[in-house]
Amino acid sequence: MQYWKKYSKEELAKKIDTSLKRNVDFSNDISLGYPASKLDGNVFYDNAPFLKDAPLLRAYVSNPNHIGCHTLGESEHAFSGTHELEKEVINVLAVDFFNCEPDNFDGYIATGGTEANIQAIWVYRNHYVNNENASFNEIAIVASEDTHYSIPKGANLLGLDHIIVPVDFETRLIQRKVLFDLIKTAKEQGKKHFIVISNMATTMFGSVDNPNLFVDVMEELNVDFKIHIDAAFGGFIYPFSKGREDIGLNNPHINSITIDAHKMLQAPYGTGVFICKKGLIQNVLTKEAQYVNGMDLTLCGSRSGANAMAVWMILFSYGPHKWFEKISVLLMRTKWFCDQLDNLNIDYYRNPHMNIVTMKSEDIPVKVEKKYDLVPETHDGNNKWYKVVIMDHVEVDHLEKLIEEIKSLKSN
Ligand SMILES: *Cc1c(COP(=O)(O)O)cnc(C)c1O
Repeated sequence: MQYWKKYSKEELAKKIDTSLKRNVDFSNDISLGYPASKLDGNVFYDNAPFLKDAPLLRAYVSNPNHIGCHTLGESEHAFSGTHELEKEVINVLAVDFFNCEPDNFDGYIATGGTEANIQAIWVYRNHYVNNENASFNEIAIVASEDTHYSIPKGANLLGLDHIIVPVDFETRLIQRKVLFDLIKTAKEQGKKHFIVISNMATTMFGSVDNPNLFVDVMEELNVDFKIHIDAAFGGFIYPFSKGREDIGLNNPHINSITIDAHKMLQAPYGTGVFICKKGLIQNVLTKEAQYVNGMDLTLCGSRSGANAMAVWMILFSYGPHKWFEKISVLLMRTKWFCDQLDNLNIDYYRNPHMNIVTMKSEDIPVKVEKKYDLVPETHDGNNKWYKVVIMDHVEVDHLEKLIEEIKSLKSN
C-alpha cells in the first residue's frame, strides 16, 4: 500500500481543518465572483457548537465545489485545499486498489456509477473518433446480459450499438464461443472498434467477468478494443477477497474503472468514482467551458466537495487492515447463509469472493420476498431469482430469521 493508511480521529480532523482553511471561506473572506456560498444559514447553522467536534459536517456547511477534474491541469483555486483530499482518494483507489502506476491516471468523484460508466463510454467513443477516424456506427459496446442498465443508458445517449452477450444460466459466465460468434458477426457487419464492459460483480448476482476472456477473443478476431471495469459494486470488496493482482489497471487492456463509494463504502449518495489511464480523458474536453478554471473533462458540472471529503474520511479512518477485517466479517456472514441454504437444498448463485447470494425463486415463497425485502431479478412477472446482499446492517440474526421462515414454510 503506497497511499492508503489509517489515521487517528485527531489526525483526520486536523487534515480536514487544514484543507478547509486553504479553501475560500464564504463566512469570512471577500469572494465576489462565484455563484456559490456556504449552505443557507437559516437551515445549516455555521456556528452551531456541535460543529466543533464534527469536521465532516463543517465541510458540508462550508460547501466546497469540486467542479472539473483535479488530476490534470489547473483547477479552481478557491477550493484547492479540499481538491487535495479528492486527489488522495483517487491515488488510493488507482494505485493501492487497482495496481495502476503512480501518476499514470486521471479521475474524479462522479455522481455515481451511472455517470462513471457513461463517462467511460464517452471517453472511448471520442478516442476512436479522434484518433482512429471512426464513425459512430463502426463502434460497439460489448457487455454481458447481467450488466448494469447504465450501460444501455450510455449506449442510447451516445448513439452507439450495444452487443449483449448472454451468460450461462447457472454459472452466470460468458461462454467463449458465444462471445466469439457475436464479435465475429459484428466485425462482418462493419464494427471495427469495441468498448468492452467487464463486470467486477454484477448488481444482481455478484458474478465477475474474466477480462482476459474478452482480450483472448478480440485478439483472435484482430479487432480494436478497450476494456472498462464496472466495479461499482465489487470495487471495495473483490480486490481484497480475491487478490489485487487479479483484475486491475496493471493489465494493459484495462484502461478505466468505475467504483461506487456510496455502496460498499457507505459514503453518502453522489460518490461514484471514475478512473482512467493517462492520455484518455482529454477526449471529452469541453472547450466551451471557459468560465471554469482548468479543463472541463467531466460529464457533470458542479459537484459536492464535502462528498469527496466523506470518501476520504471513511477510507483513512479504516486503513487497509481494518477494511480487510470489515470485508472478512461480511464474507463470513455470507458463508453462514450459504451453508444454511445448502442444508435446506435451496439452489442459489454466489461468487465465493462476494457478499451477494441470489436464490432461485422457485424455492422462495412470494410471502417471504415481501417480508424480507428480497430483490427480484425482474418485476415483469417472469422472475427467476431473488437476491440477498450482505451489507453492514445485515447480520446473522436477520439471516437466521429468513432461514427459519423458509424452513417452516417448506415443512408445511
Ligand atoms: C449500482 C451499480 C451501477 C450504477 O450505480 P449508481 O451509483 O446507482 O449510478 C453500475 N454498475 C453496477 C455493477 C452497479 O452495481
